Amino acid sequence: MQEASKKEAKLIGIAMIAGLIIGLILYSTGYSDLASYLKPIGTIFIRLLKMVIIPLVLSSIFMAMYNLGTPEALGSMGRKAVGYYFVTTAFAVFLGLIFVNLINPGVGMGAALQDKAGLDGLSEVMAQKVTQSKGLYQTIIDVLINAIPSNPFEAMATSTVLQVIVFAIMFGIVALYMPKKAAPVVSFMESLEAMTLKLTHVVMKLAPLGIFVLMIDIMAKTGFGAIESLSKYMATVIIGLGCHAILLMFIASWRLKKSPLFILKSLSAPLLTAFSTSSSAATLPITMTTVEENLGVRKDTAKFVLPLGATINMDGTALYESVAAIFIAQVYGINLDIGQQIVIFMTASLAAIGAAAIPGAGLITMSIVLGAVGLPIEGIGLILAVDRILDMFRTTVNVFGDCVGTIVVDSMMDKSEFSDRVDKPVIDG
Ligand code: ASP
Repeated sequence: MQEASKKEAKLIGIAMIAGLIIGLILYSTGYSDLASYLKPIGTIFIRLLKMVIIPLVLSSIFMAMYNLGTPEALGSMGRKAVGYYFVTTAFAVFLGLIFVNLINPGVGMGAALQDKAGLDGLSEVMAQKVTQSKGLYQTIIDVLINAIPSNPFEAMATSTVLQVIVFAIMFGIVALYMPKKAAPVVSFMESLEAMTLKLTHVVMKLAPLGIFVLMIDIMAKTGFGAIESLSKYMATVIIGLGCHAILLMFIASWRLKKSPLFILKSLSAPLLTAFSTSSSAATLPITMTTVEENLGVRKDTAKFVLPLGATINMDGTALYESVAAIFIAQVYGINLDIGQQIVIFMTASLAAIGAAAIPGAGLITMSIVLGAVGLPIEGIGLILAVDRILDMFRTTVNVFGDCVGTIVVDSMMDKSEFSDRVDKPVIDG
C-alpha cells in the first residue's frame, strides 16, 4: 500500500469519526439545523464523484474488453464474475434468512409499530416510487429488458449505468474485430480513461472533508430516536452483514495470501466512502483506483468486474431485503412457510440486482420482495426511519463484495488469458 493512500485512508477514517461525534452532539443539543449549512459541501463531493462515473465506466469497460484481446478471454472472465456474484449473493440472502428466523426481531412488536406505520406511512415520494409487484417471471424479464439501452447516449445522459455497461461491452468487442478502423475510437477511449482516473484522484482529495460533512448531516438528523424502537431489527441486519463481511474477508485473504487486516486497511478508502455516501456508484471511481493500486489486481480485471459488480452485485442489499421482508411479516403477524421463504430468497437476490447503486434504492425494490409473497407494501413504512443508517452498512458490504469479487476473479484468470493484443482476430475491411 502506497504511503500517500495510507495517509488518505487515515484522514478519511478520522474525518468519519469526527463527523459522527459532532453530528451526535448537534442532535442531542438540539442544533441539528446547523448541519444543513454544511450539507452543500457533502452534496458537492457526491456530485463530483458522480461526475466521473459515466465517462469512467464507458472508457474502462471498453478498454477492458479491448485489452482482453479475445472473446474467449472475455467469456472466461464474465463467467467467473457472474458465478462469483451469484454464489455470494445467494449466500448473503441465506445468512439474512437464518438470522432473521433465529432472532425474530419483529415478533411481538405488532401493535406499537403498526400504529407507527399508520402515522408515518409512506412519504409521498416513496408512494410514487414504490410500484406494485409484478411477479417473479415479469421481474426477471424486466431486469433483462432494462439492461439493453435503446439509445446509448440517453443511457449516459440519464446515468443508467447498467445500460452503459452493456453498450461498452458490445462496443469493445466490436473494436476487437476491427482494430484498424476502431483505432481512433480506441485511442479516444484510452485518453478518456486516463483523464477520468486522474480526475478521480483530484476529487479524492476532497474525500475527507466530504465524508466529514456527510456524517455530521446524517447523525444530526437521525440521532438515536428511531434507532431505539427498531434496534432489534437493525441488530439483525448488521449482525448478518458483519458475518457476511467476515466471510468475504477470509476469501480475499485466502486468494491474496495477505492478512485480513492488510486487506481492510488497503480497502479503507472505498469502504469508508461507501459508508458515508451510501452509494456504490458514487464510490466506484475510488474503488477502482484503490483495488489496482493497493492490492495489485490487474487493471483489466478491475475495469470489467468492478463497474459490473457495483451495478448488479449487491450482497448487502440482498441480505437486508430478506431480513426486512421477514421482519415486516413478523410485525404483521403473518407466518411465512418454507415455500414463501424460498420465494423471498429468489426475489431478494433479484431485487438486489435490479436496485440502482444509489442511496435508498434497496428500500424501493423491497416492493418486489413484499409483493411476491403477498405482504403489504405499506410495511415499508415500518422500516423507513432507520433505512438511511442501514443503507450505510449494506452499501459498505456491497462495495466490499465487489472488491473481493475482483480479487477472486483476478486470481482465477490465467496469465495467458490476458492477451497483449498481438494475435487478435482481425476482420477489418
Ligand atoms: N445504496 C446501495 C448501494 O448503492 C443500494 C441500496 O439501497 O441497497 O449499493
